Amino acid sequence: MDPYLLVEDLRVSFATAGGTVRAVDGVSFAVERGRTLGVVGESGSGKSATALAILGLHDPRRATVTGEITVAGRRLVGRPEAEVRRLRGRNLAMIFQDPLSALHPYYPVGRQVAEAYRVHHPRAGRAEVRGRVVETLGRVGIPEPERRYGQYPHEYSGGMRQRAMIAMALVNDPDLLIADEPTTALDVTVQAQILDLLADVQAEFHTAIVLITHDLGVVGQIADDVLVMYAGRAVEQGSVERVLRRPQHPYTWGLLSSVPSLHGDADADLTPIPGHPPSLIDVPAGCAFHPRCRYAGQTGGRCHAELPELRPAGAAGHRVACHLCAEDRTRHHAADVTRAEAAR
Ligand code: SF4
Repeated sequence: MDPYLLVEDLRVSFATAGGTVRAVDGVSFAVERGRTLGVVGESGSGKSATALAILGLHDPRRATVTGEITVAGRRLVGRPEAEVRRLRGRNLAMIFQDPLSALHPYYPVGRQVAEAYRVHHPRAGRAEVRGRVVETLGRVGIPEPERRYGQYPHEYSGGMRQRAMIAMALVNDPDLLIADEPTTALDVTVQAQILDLLADVQAEFHTAIVLITHDLGVVGQIADDVLVMYAGRAVEQGSVERVLRRPQHPYTWGLLSSVPSLHGDADADLTPIPGHPPSLIDVPAGCAFHPRCRYAGQTGGRCHAELPELRPAGAAGHRVACHLCAEDRTRHHAADVTRAEAAR
């Protein structure tokens, strides 16, 4: 099956007074209809810049976007803005992280969802639009959608606002949904409900989903494939089953050891990755992760000098960018897990 979304060698950079920010630096992936790709990393890893590039939302006066983005067989990079906008509305939709900043506080929620529908159905009559919006509010689990139509965002709970955002994204039946940290601000129960809702939508409409998150636990719950990003580059990618069971990159190990749900003990003392992600203006030479990696001294200086390329890591589609050999990665990961368990 041809992928619905194909991203090839995507690069996004911004010229700033302090230098060029390389937010995305040569990332490639594919997503088929009915599948979910989790894009994971800390803030500043380039995951949100990747999502905005797919949606054609970078300001061309500020950002330079190169590479190829193909949606339903149509190339997007370099296309006129009007054409991208048309495609975006009908085929692509985004669920933003913060519904309060994406929903206008002074307009009823139903009216805002109706506006999203009207942009792509300019000839639809009032009754049709209202009916469609009420149906969509109901579809995303908002109770009494007729009554809720006229309420304002502040009259919705946090979980309901996130559902309203999802309604706005779904009202035009998009084939591709980009969800940027859709559950970050929600408590665990509501988070699980929203993830279930996305899974239901996908099962019903065969939607392709790109889920941007910092949380590998969320990826484990909903995604089929995962792309781990660090400093604008892919450091590991593959099926969720494979990457979560046999992670190959020291950065992925660090992300995993800070996920409570994957260890089954929400109160466990978790091990965050020491240090901070680098500035994207001044990315360390060699492997960008080397200042934070406990194994950087074990490759004869390569980690400090040579950029590791993504290479196959044993199973079909599983790839990793690390200079350690496969045996060393297996050994170090086993020691890493033992250390993390001893610390709990
Ligand atoms: Fe660590 Fe070196 Fe692998 Fe980078 S290439 S993750 S610094 S061992």
